[in-house]
Amino acid sequence: MDGDGNFLEKIKSLYGKRDCEKITRAFEFSKKAHEGQKRAGGEDYFIHPRAVADILIDMKMDSATIIAALLHDVLEDTKVTDVQIAEEFGGEILTLVKGVTRFDKLKFADKIDEEAENLRKMFLSIAEDIRVIIIKLADRLHNMRTLEAKASESRKRKAMETLEIYAPFAGRLGMSQIKVELEDLCLLYLYPEAYAELKEKVSLKLAERQDFIAKVCGEIKARLVEMGIESEVYGRPKHFYSIFNKMRNQNKKFDEIYDLIAVRVIVDSVKDCYGALGVIHTMWPPMQGRFKDYIAMRKANNYQSLHTTVFSKFGALFEIQIRTKEMHEIAEYGIAAHWKYKNPKALGDSQFNERLNFIKGFIEADISLSDNEEFLDIVKADLGQHELLVFTPKGKIIDLPVGSNGIDFAYNIHSELGNKCVGIKINGEMARIDTKLQSGDVVEVLTNPNSKGPSRDWLKIVKTTSAKSKIHQFFKREMKDDNIKKGRDMLESEARHKGYVFSELLHGKGLDEVMKRYVFSSEDDMFASVGYGGITTKQILFKLVEAYKKEKKIEYKEKGAVSSNGEKREATGGIMIGGYNEENARYASCCNPLPGDEIVAYLSKGRGVAVHRSDCSNLKGLDAERLQKAEWPTVITHELIANIRVTVVDRKGVFSEVSSLISGMGFDMESFQGNITESDGSGIKRGDIRCSIKIKSMDELNAAVNRIRAMKDVIDAQRF
Ligand code: MN
Repeated sequence: MDGDGNFLEKIKSLYGKRDCEKITRAFEFSKKAHEGQKRAGGEDYFIHPRAVADILIDMKMDSATIIAALLHDVLEDTKVTDVQIAEEFGGEILTLVKGVTRFDKLKFADKIDEEAENLRKMFLSIAEDIRVIIIKLADRLHNMRTLEAKASESRKRKAMETLEIYAPFAGRLGMSQIKVELEDLCLLYLYPEAYAELKEKVSLKLAERQDFIAKVCGEIKARLVEMGIESEVYGRPKHFYSIFNKMRNQNKKFDEIYDLIAVRVIVDSVKDCYGALGVIHTMWPPMQGRFKDYIAMRKANNYQSLHTTVFSKFGALFEIQIRTKEMHEIAEYGIAAHWKYKNPKALGDSQFNERLNFIKGFIEADISLSDNEEFLDIVKADLGQHELLVFTPKGKIIDLPVGSNGIDFAYNIHSELGNKCVGIKINGEMARIDTKLQSGDVVEVLTNPNSKGPSRDWLKIVKTTSAKSKIHQFFKREMKDDNIKKGRDMLESEARHKGYVFSELLHGKGLDEVMKRYVFSSEDDMFASVGYGGITTKQILFKLVEAYKKEKKIEYKEKGAVSSNGEKREATGGIMIGGYNEENARYASCCNPLPGDEIVAYLSKGRGVAVHRSDCSNLKGLDAERLQKAEWPTVITHELIANIRVTVVDRKGVFSEVSSLISGMGFDMESFQGNITESDGSGIKRGDIRCSIKIKSMDELNAAVNRIRAMKDVIDAQRF
């Protein structure tokens, strides 16, 4: 029988008559719609939706999911319209198909934007109907299974995306069967050599241990029968990716990994799980610290099972997992098991909904974050690990990502609890607010109704998406105009009180520091924060004044630089001409000589002594007899004029920025002139600034030139 025939036979054995008819109708509809289309590997396109539906049938999903899976690519790739689907299959199916289509083939200029946008669409679709992601995961699984047909570059990219997003997502939804297969396929495409090596070694090891495992399974089974416990016992190798990860993360060699094979014991009831555990522990001694009761304390993704590692007679260690059939289904299919077991025993509606909370967290995070890159980072980090289980004082279990602290905990329960949090008790003891929680901790949030709200620092401390976005939301809410105005007034008057001009304090490096230190997104954000009392004027002014003082000091030092090397000669401030101090020399304005320049003195009739640079062109016409070699004094008391030429990018406001930088450094400006030129004939316009400033030393000039050079949009600056 061909693939189509097999498929239709299979649904007949699993679904009722009405469902079968509907699925068959969707089957024919999709096949016709995709007629003539080929996949990258050359086979008929319809093979793909059929395979995706088949994966979902094996997961025992409902008929609507199967139908939507069959149709999942028709909107995107064929002429079929929304209306046709709605008419033929109804609104529910249309929602599902559109949900899958929506984030299927978006193209963006930038990879990060594309990825972030895809995720956004995905979360929104999932919030509408979780079956969308289940179909999407099946779709991705089949695409990964047939990835060989794609070009190598696109294979790597697909595998990377799968490993970062889809596999963890499947994990979070408890769909370990899909997760495991996706991860192994990713390993195959991303680390082909490691994959090949593992495959070979694992199969060797399996062959080697087959007899041993068969013997162990047989012994367990026999003892359970004696105790009247029905069971299914088998050995199962760990998947490649988890072995690979263990080797990489724990830096172990293949031979050092002992739990390659886990023995699974499936029984009928929870009581039998513990019964079987007791029996097994009498057969072989358990290894300390390896027993885990995920039945009493289920994992965040709803996984339940007993895990124990025992020593066999030959000293070999092996892991045993004990669970009921229902737990096993949930372990394999996760959230998808909801459609099979619509009863509270397995996965009730409330638990089901609780498990989807993390998706709401992503959507909230997305609203409060504008940066795609940050959004992606947060989602990836949050998807990574989600294994921490802690308790409220009343014993309610809260699950959080590993690394979370009390603030994450508080916000997880309620935003107001987070906003009013003033302290954290862990297991009855006061703890630092950023103490990382451990599984099993009982966490109590201390609140104060008068609390002004979260601290800015918390943004740096919290681990979870939702805490971060709730804190952002709080600050956004407080960003009202009257808070901004109030805060600014408070800062201005406090600065005045301390003897500073607030606007001057704002100009220095201090502002950057304050913004970074308290995670303000803008000056207004800072004012608002002061306005509503989230931060004190003292905290802000302290930093600003500190930075302001520091800068002033540096400036002072720069000004004093020359006088620091005063030696034998007396500080007279005069030019040395022929060994004599000439107090009344003046500096020629044609060449503006500066200390360090070679200079000559011109003794004019009746106009005293003029000092020129020795290369000044005006010297040529002068009486050579009146020229005398001159030397700079060690200490300059006269003010000197330096000409600076600055080339800048032609941009609005750039001239005034340069001029305010210069006056901000404390220089007096003699002249300042800016022109737009096209000096190099390239057609690119530049700003050309020529200015003269009063300085007391070369060091001062160098400092000024260096500061100007470091400015944004300054191409060059030099004395001329
Ligand atoms: Mn597809």
